[in-house]
Amino acid sequence: RTVYVNGEYLPENEAKISIFDRGFLMADGVYEVTSVLDGKLIDFDGHAARLERSLGELDMASPVTAEELLAIHRELVARNGIDEGMVYLQITRGAPGDRDFVFPDPEETPSSIVLFTQDKPGLADNPVAKKGIRIISIDDIRWGRRDIKTVQLLYPSMGKMMARKAGADDAWMVEDGFVTEGTSNNAYIVKGNRIITRGLSNDILHGITRAAVLRFAREAQMEVEERNFTIEEAREADEAFVTSASTFVMPVVEIDGTPLGGGVPGRVAPRLREIYLEESRKAAI
Ligand code: PMP
Repeated sequence: RTVYVNGEYLPENEAKISIFDRGFLMADGVYEVTSVLDGKLIDFDGHAARLERSLGELDMASPVTAEELLAIHRELVARNGIDEGMVYLQITRGAPGDRDFVFPDPEETPSSIVLFTQDKPGLADNPVAKKGIRIISIDDIRWGRRDIKTVQLLYPSMGKMMARKAGADDAWMVEDGFVTEGTSNNAYIVKGNRIITRGLSNDILHGITRAAVLRFAREAQMEVEERNFTIEEAREADEAFVTSASTFVMPVVEIDGTPLGGGVPGRVAPRLREIYLEESRKAAI
């Protein structure tokens, strides 16, 4: 696989980052994952805009322009022959040459940028989406700026392991009695024709897929309610689902051992998945 690191395209085993990189030492970095369908980028502008925002919130500069970023994404997709898959992008506050809590002077320490592709044939036609996933609930003990897409993913990673240990596929995190989001996705419940999902704040990541799915849902005359919900309300809902760039819309068929809708995907989530895939394929660049 060819990867991109700080201005160069290299075979993955030749790509190198300093041991002093603040991404490595302090999780001082941000990332984006953009999916690829038919060899084209899904919602690239949304991901580029969120990246800009994440960098801004952390007083970090982008080492590349938006145009360069698009060109690098396309070049990697082409060089690696990706038809369906993802492009991972990470920007960290560089490698000052020593370890220090204080941010380095950006003039002296340029940020580091790394991109690589992940080949996932069958990403759109994922058989898991036909069965749905089972989730458990866990405490949300993450920091208070979950709207910034940092590479600080240890707790979400532990959450997936807790789910696996419990015989489930993923976890929803709960804070002050309300569901925040999934370990790597936004969380929704469905009651009748109404889609309910937590509103945007610093408590959750502002999902790019979330924005698109809510727009498509409203266009399809579905009702959308952005408000908090509890795990108890979710367990009594008609349906539930999650969204993310890599899973699109994924039905949830079990919450903490309680099956939803007889334990099979309902009507709304699969329909939204279909609409999302169709519309975002049309808009892909
Ligand atoms: N919430 C969290 C915590 C995530 O990690 C992700 C995926 N990176 C999402 C939500 C979904 O965001 P997106 O639709 O932009 O992939």
